[in-house]
Amino acid sequence: MALKELQRVAVIGAGIAGSACAHALAQAGHAVQVFDKARGPGGRLATRRMAWVDSAGEPCTTWLDHGALGMTAHVEPFGAFVDKGLQAGWLAEWRPVLAAGSLPLDGAAEFHVPVPDSPELCRRLLAGVATRWSCVIDNLQWTTSGWQVEAAGQRQGGPFDAVVLALPPAQAAPLLVTHRSDWARHASLAPMQPCWTLMGVAADDAVPAWELARPPAGPLAWVMRNDARPGRARAPGQAHWVAHARAGWSRQHLEQPPEWVLQQLQAALSDTLGRPVAWLHGTVHRWRYALPQARRTAPGESFWWDAAQGLGVCGDFLGGAGVEGAWLSAHSLSTAMLRWLGDAARAA
Ligand SMILES: Cc1cc2nc3c(=O)[nH]c(=O)nc-3n(C[C@H](O)[C@H](O)[C@H](O)COP(=O)(O)OP(=O)(O)OC[C@H]3O[C@@H](n4cnc5c(N)ncnc54)[C@H](O)[C@@H]3O)c2cc1C
Repeated sequence: MALKELQRVAVIGAGIAGSACAHALAQAGHAVQVFDKARGPGGRLATRRMAWVDSAGEPCTTWLDHGALGMTAHVEPFGAFVDKGLQAGWLAEWRPVLAAGSLPLDGAAEFHVPVPDSPELCRRLLAGVATRWSCVIDNLQWTTSGWQVEAAGQRQGGPFDAVVLALPPAQAAPLLVTHRSDWARHASLAPMQPCWTLMGVAADDAVPAWELARPPAGPLAWVMRNDARPGRARAPGQAHWVAHARAGWSRQHLEQPPEWVLQQLQAALSDTLGRPVAWLHGTVHRWRYALPQARRTAPGESFWWDAAQGLGVCGDFLGGAGVEGAWLSAHSLSTAMLRWLGDAARAA
């Protein structure tokens, strides 16, 4: 790619990594277009709207956070980003009461939780940025006028001077293969842990005093009272549960039908509580790519940037597991891209 002032950037993926990268580039004055296959932003910072009809025939709606429980800040500049969110009110601190006998929380006793729902963090970052939802990008083409981004054989705007892929590695690999086969190979080998997640509403007045449990054994790794989280709706007589299965259990039962998984996880939650649960509504979600298996699963930098092609990659599989790692990867990539742009503008 000839050195020139970069203006048009396509960012594929609107999770925390894509949203943070798009935000930084747009703030610096570049024309950023974000694409995501989902109906809105957030990626694994996810909240599900659940609608059902109660026994009296009344329609009911509940929102449950079925992705990341929250985030913890260990290093700068992510700490400063979290502080800004807390001050602005789109993040809140959650110090959950832990169930007796739970495994200890790793490193931090508090989570930072987006309010009023998990995607709010990405919504805030993408305010003013052009977005296209329900758009599965399945091909990238390099032409003399720039990058073409395609979905189902249709060109999606552009051409673009640069493309950023902010996707789980298995989804980034097929888009990379004709442009950077080495990156595609590393991405396709990066191991990600799956997670089956239970979301349920129970008729329950006798709710426990705790808000979060980490059972030491059994199928469940995390059990959370969603309605105990900051900024979430509470309904009298109802308990809102989200429970994440262990990675090993999820891998072993990855291809089981959802109805079977629902039964198993509801039974496991009853075991955790030590009593039967009167479910009003329940469902499960399968995360094929929930978390990188190791803190850093790909070799080299916490992001990939090929200045000659104007092609970048960021996400948790490069920056380290979790929201913080994904954000740091995006921050490092956007910093490198903006530095390159400054050099390019001076050279022009
Ligand atoms: C159940 C669960 C619990 C977790 N708990 C925690 C926690 O407590 N703390 C923590 O820090 N982290 C937690 N995490 C991990 C955290 O959510 C992720 O590390 C982080 O959100 C990853 O962000 P990302 O932007 O890299 O990827 P993602 O959030 O996965 O974003 C990728 C986006 O790309 C889109 N996409 C994929 N393919 C395409 C395509 N071809 N075209 C267009 N769009 C595409 C997807 O729809 C998605 O929106 C948890 C994750 C899960 C699933």
